[in-house]
Amino acid sequence: MLYIVATPIGNLGDITRRAVEVLASADVVAAEDTRRCRALLSHLGISRSLLAYHDHSDERRECELLTELQRGRSVALVADAGTPLISDPGFRLVRLARQAGMDVVCIPGPCAAIAALSIAGLPSDRFVFEGFLPARESARRSRLAELATEPRTLVFYESPRRVLALFEDLQSVFGEERQAALARELTKVHETVLHGSIAQLHDRIASDPEQQLGEIVVLVHGAPEAPDRSTVDGESLLKALLPRLPLREAVDCAAEISGLPRNALYRQALAMRDTGESR
Ligand code: SAM
Repeated sequence: MLYIVATPIGNLGDITRRAVEVLASADVVAAEDTRRCRALLSHLGISRSLLAYHDHSDERRECELLTELQRGRSVALVADAGTPLISDPGFRLVRLARQAGMDVVCIPGPCAAIAALSIAGLPSDRFVFEGFLPARESARRSRLAELATEPRTLVFYESPRRVLALFEDLQSVFGEERQAALARELTKVHETVLHGSIAQLHDRIASDPEQQLGEIVVLVHGAPEAPDRSTVDGESLLKALLPRLPLREAVDCAAEISGLPRNALYRQALAMRDTGESR
């Protein structure tokens, strides 16, 4: 079996009982950074054979792990922290294992995006996980522009070196007023969650360098939903437009804004003019 094992994102007390059992019994533990993994295993009193597996691992390493699985041995994949495959390596290995008909089993646990979402105070019923934005400013701004009308809460991972630049970009692309949160060093001694408008968070981060340290998740409220055109009231629109525009233009505008049939609005406008309601 291939086990995908989540590990703590800071506080080692967050390791699950199942994760310990699987790490202690796996024939091979595959890890992005074997030194970090060895430190975790030694904290847990576990000694296992470790193999390095990262995004740049060549196909030979994946074949090696698949061969282990095909020989009936169990492999546990761990990330440096949190859930493997979530902005971490593992996708190619899981896909290959599935294609080869192997069992892939999850050992769920911490994930910084979900931990941040659970305490940020932003809508969590629907959200979009964007992971890391491009490091280059122009590419980052273009990606943000594509997300500007996304109504679901946005979740980003960000490097502390770029967090202030990210808030500058958020201000110019999303505007200053949208609510946002910055979740830093979750489960660690300096855990901090800041919330407020994008402009407030920008100023706070700019004036307090400590907010530019450690591991960071940034969350942004989704864009306000566009008004449902069917709920736009034709009569109110005509009342606002008729005193300002010739009747036909007022009807055209009202039809375009509301999506309501032009003929019906025209009849309504005539009736309003006749009864003096349009003044
Ligand atoms: N696989 C991990 C997970 O499940 O969250 C994420 C790995 S990704 C390479 C590392 C990024 O996750 C960091 O740059 C940061 O954005 C976020 N992160 C990890 N640990 C965190 C923590 N304790 N507090 C806040 N963000 C964290």
